[in-house]
Amino acid sequence: FVIPDFQDFIKDIEEMYWAAKSNTDGKVASYIPQLARASNENWGVSICTIDGQRFSIGDVTVPFTLQSCSKPLTYAMALETLGPDVVHKYVGTEPSGRNFNELILDYNMKPHNPMINAGAILVCSLLKTLDKPEMTLAEKFDYVMSFFSRLAGNEVLGFNNAVFLSEREAADRNYALGFYMREHKCYPEKTNLRECMDFYFQCCSMEANCDIMSIMAATLANGGICPITDEKVLRPDSVRNVLSLMHSCGMYDYSGQFAFKVGLPAKSGVSGAMLIVVPNVMGICTWSPPLDPLGNSCRGLQFCDELIKRFNFHKYDNI
Ligand code: GLN
Repeated sequence: FVIPDFQDFIKDIEEMYWAAKSNTDGKVASYIPQLARASNENWGVSICTIDGQRFSIGDVTVPFTLQSCSKPLTYAMALETLGPDVVHKYVGTEPSGRNFNELILDYNMKPHNPMINAGAILVCSLLKTLDKPEMTLAEKFDYVMSFFSRLAGNEVLGFNNAVFLSEREAADRNYALGFYMREHKCYPEKTNLRECMDFYFQCCSMEANCDIMSIMAATLANGGICPITDEKVLRPDSVRNVLSLMHSCGMYDYSGQFAFKVGLPAKSGVSGAMLIVVPNVMGICTWSPPLDPLGNSCRGLQFCDELIKRFNFHKYDNI
C-alpha cells in the first residue's frame, strides 16, 4: 500500500475536514444564477490512492459542474490524441500572471497556457477541428465525455443544460477572447468559432461529484493508469505535461503562491471544486462553493495548507 496505515491517515483527513467546515470565508460565484444559488454549506473531500484505496467525507455525491476543472482534462485529451508538438504549436506553457479570463495573448500571439480561458478555448478548437474532424457535434460531445469518464474509472458524468445555456448567455468576455484569437489566426484552419465556443461551454457544464473527480486526480497521480479499472488512459508524457501546467498555472492568480506553499499540481474551478494530485500517491478532490477574491475555494485552500503541514507531500519536502 502506498499509504500503509490508511486508517490513521483518514483520521487526519477527518480532522482537517471538520476544521475547514467551520470556515465561513468567501462568496459563491454570482455571474450566472445557477452558481449563485449554490449553498455556502456544501463541503466534501474525496481521496483515491494509486492502489485504489478510497475515502470520502461530506457532500461527496452532490453533483457540481466541472467549470475550469475541465481545462486539464481537455488538455490531457488533446495531448493524448494529437501529441504535445501539435498542441503546443497553438498554445504556450507560461503562466499569464493575469486573470483567467483576461483579454491577452503571449508575445507569440498565442494563449499563454491551456489552464486559462483563452488556452482552453483554443484546446477545444484543436479537439474539434483536428481530432476526428468527421464527427458530428453530438458525436464529439459523447466522445469527449466518454474520455473524461475513462479517466474516472468509467463513472458516468452528467451535463447541466441550465448552466450551459447560462454560460453561453453570460459569455461576452469568452466571445471577446474567441474573436481576439481569430483575429490573430490562433486557430487551426476550418475552425468554426461558434461551435468551438459551444464546445467549451459544454465542457464547463459537464457534471461530476467529489468521488468521481478524485478518481480522475488519481489517474493523473498514477501516471495515466486509472487505479480503479487499471485502464491506461493517458501516456506518461501527457500526464507529465498536464501536471507541470497544473503546478504552474492551475490556481488562477494564486498559482505561484500555491506552488510555493503547497507544492502540488492542482486545478480549481468556479463551482468551488479543486483537483489535487499527489504524484505517485493519490488524487484528491475537494468541493465547496465559497470562493476567495482570486476564485479559489476557501475551504479547499485551507484543506491543502493543512495537508502540507501534516504530511510531507510538498514537491520539495523530501530534499
Ligand atoms: N465557465 C467559466 C468561464 O469560462 C469557467 C471559468 C472558471 O471556472 N474559472 O468563465
